[in-house]
Amino acid sequence: MKKPPIIWLNVAVFLITFLFAAVAVPYRAFTHGFDGAEITMAVLCFIYCGMSITAGYHRLWSHKTYQAHWSLRLLFALGGAFALQNSILHWSSDHRIHHKHVDKNDKDPYSAKMGFWYSHIGWMLREYQAHRYANYDNARDLQKDPIVMWQHKHYLLLTIAMNVGVPLLFGLWHGDVISSLLLVGFLRLVLSHHTTFFINSLAHIWGKQTYTDKNTARDNGVLAFFTFGEGYHNYHHIFENDYRNGIRWWQFDPTKWLIKGCEWLKLTSKLRTSPEDKVEKARLAMILKRSQLKLKSHPEAELMLERLQQEYDALIAKLNDFYAARKQLLANKRDQLLADVEKSELVKQYKELKLRLAEQQRSWHLLTAKLA
Ligand SMILES: [Zn+2]
Ligand SMILES: [Zn+2]
Repeated sequence: MKKPPIIWLNVAVFLITFLFAAVAVPYRAFTHGFDGAEITMAVLCFIYCGMSITAGYHRLWSHKTYQAHWSLRLLFALGGAFALQNSILHWSSDHRIHHKHVDKNDKDPYSAKMGFWYSHIGWMLREYQAHRYANYDNARDLQKDPIVMWQHKHYLLLTIAMNVGVPLLFGLWHGDVISSLLLVGFLRLVLSHHTTFFINSLAHIWGKQTYTDKNTARDNGVLAFFTFGEGYHNYHHIFENDYRNGIRWWQFDPTKWLIKGCEWLKLTSKLRTSPEDKVEKARLAMILKRSQLKLKSHPEAELMLERLQQEYDALIAKLNDFYAARKQLLANKRDQLLADVEKSELVKQYKELKLRLAEQQRSWHLLTAKLA
C-alpha cells in the first residue's frame, strides 16, 4: 500500500524542537548553565501545558466529565495552545474517534495496533486522515462553547504568542533570553509533547488490564506519574465519563485533584464518577478470567474451576446485596422518610451485609491471589 504524503510542517516542528532540546539545551547547560529561576519556570510551564491537556482538552472537553467556569476554560485554552497539540475542537474530535473505534486501524486515528511509533507520533507525520480534517460533526456540543471556537479560529496566532511570547518575556524579565527560549521554550515543549504522546503509545502497550481486555489500554502507575494521572488508561477506556483516571486515593492522579480542588473554589461543578459496584464487578470479572486461564493447566482443573465459579457467584451476590442496601439507605436519608426505629434497623442490616461482603472478599482473595 502506498503511504500518504508527508506533512512537512509537522515533521519540521517535531524535528527542530527535538534537536534544540536534545543538543542545544545540554550544550548550553555545560557551557553556560541554567539557574534555579529558569528551571522552576520551565517546570511550572510544563505542568501548565500538561494539565491544560489532561484536565482541559481531555477530561473536560473530550469527555465532558465535569463543567468548568469560563475563566478556567480560558486558562486551559491558552495552555493547550502553549502545549502545541492542535485546537481543542480538533483534538477532542480525534479523541472521541479514538474511544469509539479504539484499536481499529482504519478508524482509530492513533490505533495502538499500528505499533509504537505510529501511535506515538507517526500518525501526525503523514496525511493519514486528510479525509476528515474539517469534519467536526462528533463535537457539535463543543462548537457551542465560544472559548473553544475562539481558540480554534485564532489557534496559529495563540500558539505562536504562547510559545514565543512566554519564554521571551520571562527571559527579558529575568535577564537571559537565550537560556529561557531553550529551557522554557524548547525543552518544556518537547517534554510536554512526548509525555502526552506516551498515553497513545505506551499506555496501550505497557501495564495491567485491570478492568477490561476488550481493548489494548493499560493501567500503569509509572506512566501516571509523568502524565498527571493519565496512566490509568485501562480504567479510563472503560469508564470514560469519570473525571478520575486513578480512582483509588493512593493512585497518583493530580488532574483528578485539580478538578476536585477547583470544585471547592466553585470553578468546577457536576463532577461525574462511575457507580462503584459497576467498577468493582469489572475488576472481579477480569480476576475471574485470569484465574480461569491459570487453572487450565492445574491437575485438578475441573474441580478448581467449579470452586472458583462458586466463590465468584457468592461474591457477586453479596456485592449486589450490599450495594442495594446502601442505595436504599442513602435514598431514605435523602427523603427523611423513615422513623428512627426503622432507620436503626436498616443501618444494622447494612453493617451486617458489609461484614459479610468483606468476609467473602477475603475468601475470594485467598483463592485467586495464587492464581491471578
Ligand atoms: Zn479519553
Ligand atoms: Zn487510549
